[in-house]
Order: sequence, then C-alpha cells, then structure tokens
Amino acid sequence: MSHLDVMDKLVSLCKRRGFIFQSSEIYGGTGSVWDYGPLGVELKKNLKDSWWRAMVRARDDIEGLDAAILMHPRVWEASGHVAGFVDPLVDCRTCKGRFRADKLEDAQCPQKPSKHPGEHTTCQLTEARQFNLMFKTFMGPLEETASVVYLRPETAQGIFVNFLNVQQASRQKVPFGIAQIGKAFRNEITPGNFIFRTREFEQMEMQFFVEPGTDEEHFEYWKAERMRWHHTLGLSPERLRYKAHEQLAHYARAAFDIEFDFGGTLGFQEIEGIHNRSDYDLGRHQEYSGKKLEYFDQPKNKRYVPYVIETSVGADRVTLAALVNAYREESVPGEEEGRVVLGLHASLAPIKAAVFALTKKEGQPEMAHRIAGELRRHFPVDYDETGSIGKRYRRQDEVGTPFCITVDSDSTKDGTVTVRDRDTLKQDRVAADSLRAYLEQRLPA
Ligand code: ATP
Repeated sequence: MSHLDVMDKLVSLCKRRGFIFQSSEIYGGTGSVWDYGPLGVELKKNLKDSWWRAMVRARDDIEGLDAAILMHPRVWEASGHVAGFVDPLVDCRTCKGRFRADKLEDAQCPQKPSKHPGEHTTCQLTEARQFNLMFKTFMGPLEETASVVYLRPETAQGIFVNFLNVQQASRQKVPFGIAQIGKAFRNEITPGNFIFRTREFEQMEMQFFVEPGTDEEHFEYWKAERMRWHHTLGLSPERLRYKAHEQLAHYARAAFDIEFDFGGTLGFQEIEGIHNRSDYDLGRHQEYSGKKLEYFDQPKNKRYVPYVIETSVGADRVTLAALVNAYREESVPGEEEGRVVLGLHASLAPIKAAVFALTKKEGQPEMAHRIAGELRRHFPVDYDETGSIGKRYRRQDEVGTPFCITVDSDSTKDGTVTVRDRDTLKQDRVAADSLRAYLEQRLPA
C-alpha cells in the first residue's frame, strides 16, 4: 500500500514552525526557491554533518573539498553540460504554460477540469525544443559572450578539476575519494513538490577514484554503503529501494538510484544516484585542459586515468524524505486532542531537549533556566514556560524534540525532574545533575 500524502500538511507545519519559508514571500515568492528558517537550518545541518562524518571524518580514504560555485566556462564544455544538459521543452499557445515534453504525465494543464497538458481539445503544444538548464551570468564588467560563466549545475566538476591537487596534497593512493557539499543551480522547467525539485539546492557528492578493472567491486560496495547511510538517518527501510537506470549514458558502466517513497501520487522518487562513470570525466578534462590527469601507481609501476564511482545525493531532497518519513498524527491515551509528531531520528532533531517549569512559582523557572543553560553547552535546548504542559509537549512533538524535561514542585526540594520521551511518552524521574549523562546515553553522538 502506498503511503499517505502528507506534503500539504508538511508545507504548512514547516512554515508555521520555522523550518522552511518560501523565498521572497513578501514579494509574492520566487518560483521554487525556499529559505530554511531557524529549525530547518538545524535539521539540514544535522543531515549534512551526518553525511560529512560518514563520508569524510570516519574514513581515512576520503578527503574533503569546498570548491567554488563559479568555474572556468571550459569546464562545462568538457563535462558535456553546454551541449547536453538539456531537457525537451514544449510551450502551450493557449495557456502559455511550459512543460517538460518527457514528463507531461507529471504536469497539470492550468485549464479546468484538471488534466495533463495536451489532453484538452483547446491545448496547442509546440514542437519540443532543447532547453539548457544551466543558469548563465557574466564575470566582470562586460556583458558579452566572452565573459559568460555558469552557476554550477552540480558540484562534481569542482572535484574532477582538483583531482591531482587533492591527491598530491593529501598523498592519498588510489583507491581514494574526494567529497564535498555545496550549492548547485538548475533552471528546472517544472520544479515543484516543495523542496523536492528546486532551482537552487545543495548536493553532497563523492567521487571515488579507482584502478580500471576494480570499478565493479567498488561500485557494489558504494551501492550498499549509501543505502546503509539512509537507514542510519531513520528512513524506513520499506520506503527505500534501488532502481537500475534503464538507459545508461554512453560513458556510464552502471547506474543505480536510491529511491524513497514520498507517499501519495509522488510515490517512489530518486534521492541519490550511484554511478560508475569510467574514466570519462578525468579523460575529458585532460583533453580540454591539455593537462595530464593521470595517477602513477608506484608499486605497480603503472600510469593510468582512474575510473570514478560517484555517489550524488541532494541535501534538500533527503531533508524532505526525513520530514515525510517522520510525520505522523496519532491519538494520545486519555486525551481528546490527538498530536502531530515529527518522529525524526534523534541525530536529525533540531532541538534535542526542551526544559519547562510547571508553574512560575517556587523558584521553578529559575531552576529550569539553570538546567537549560547547563545543557545548552552540550545540546541544542529550548526553554518554554508558556501555556499548559500539554500544549508545550505538543509544540515540541510537532518539531521532533526527543526529550522534554519538566521542573515541578518536588524538583526544587529533591533536585529531580521528569523526563518525557517523545515516542514512548514514558516519563522518568531523573536527578537534575545527571541530566547530561542521561541525554548523552540516549542521543547519538
Ligand atoms: P532528476 O532526474 O530528479 O532531475 P537527476 O537524475 O538529474 O535528478 P542528479 O543529477 O543525479 O539528478 O543529481 C543527484 C541528486 O541531486 C539527486 O538524486 C537529487 O537528490 C539532487 N537533485 C538534483 N536536482 C535537484 C533539484 N532540482 N532540486 C533538488 N535536488 C536535486
């Protein structure tokens, strides 16, 4: 059974609680560009940190990089983006809509009743023409052809052109990888589904350089490893699957996507790609730059252009997957009103614990402030003293806070507080001075 469509509810929750806002909203919004608010920036940062830890810090065979967005325009000729990074575009002369010719079944004609473009008798679709998805701009004061540069449509090329710089500086030996997180821009014809397909987004990409002939085993390794990472984020295994590409690019030796079930009509969609790209990228840059991008394997006394296994995942798309995966509505025993919970994996939760004072008397707020202040040195902590305790729990459940700590009249006498678990609703009585250890045991590092 397909999962429920929770997208509209999430969009509204994300706005109301400060996860994600539409860009330039007071001017009517910018098409498919989104801003991350106070909680959203923490959520996405936690996700990126998890990737960086798994891919760079926890390994000795992958180095980090932060390459610039603007690159030499020849890079995009070598990579094939100037000639080939295109989608087929059709216009409708009647409604003036623009659609991707190969995705008409995913688009809606603005005329009523709702149908796909081309399905109304009045639709007048033009022939498809190729539309390049790269954003163009100019470098320097002259707006002329010679000064055209592009906003990068993927982060990978920054890695390829720095292959030798990184290899020589870090003295890594093949096989090794280079990883980076950064913004990418695509002038998508039909963006949409909230932060699923946007025109500005963040990618987390890793290129693993291997000896030709060993690429298949490395590909299998990375395919399994990347799925494992999605599991560690708490994405439900039954909502994840592999999908083999039906058509391979001419240089690709294998390509799989990891898909996540976003529910509703969106269903399973790509969140990550794992590709065996052969020596295409380094080979092309070698050809276009005239600079050798070979690796010298000393023990084997052999020189070669490495093959590349690439893993490419969208930080925003996985953030959306984590939100969809986490959203649930449930009834609470003994209470009329149900609750909305973001059952986010604790490592992703923007706030790890919230501290409340049951009343504003008997020194409770002072004690709660003291506890919040101490814990804040180690975890992101919220303090809340407004509304009933029930309301305060609901507010934290809705943003995925794993633990709520309440100071009551006993606390000021015996130094203990109540800790309530978001998912089990179980309450523990814990000594205030052992709260840090209590949380550390239960929150992943
Ligand atoms: P699609 O077929 O969905 O356009 P793609 O195959 O072009 O995606 P890749 O070029 O393989 O995507 O990009 C790798 C990853 O970057 C994707 O799996 C996705 O998570 C992310 N990504 C790509 N385009 C966008 C976008 N417009 N908005 C948000 N994330 C994106």
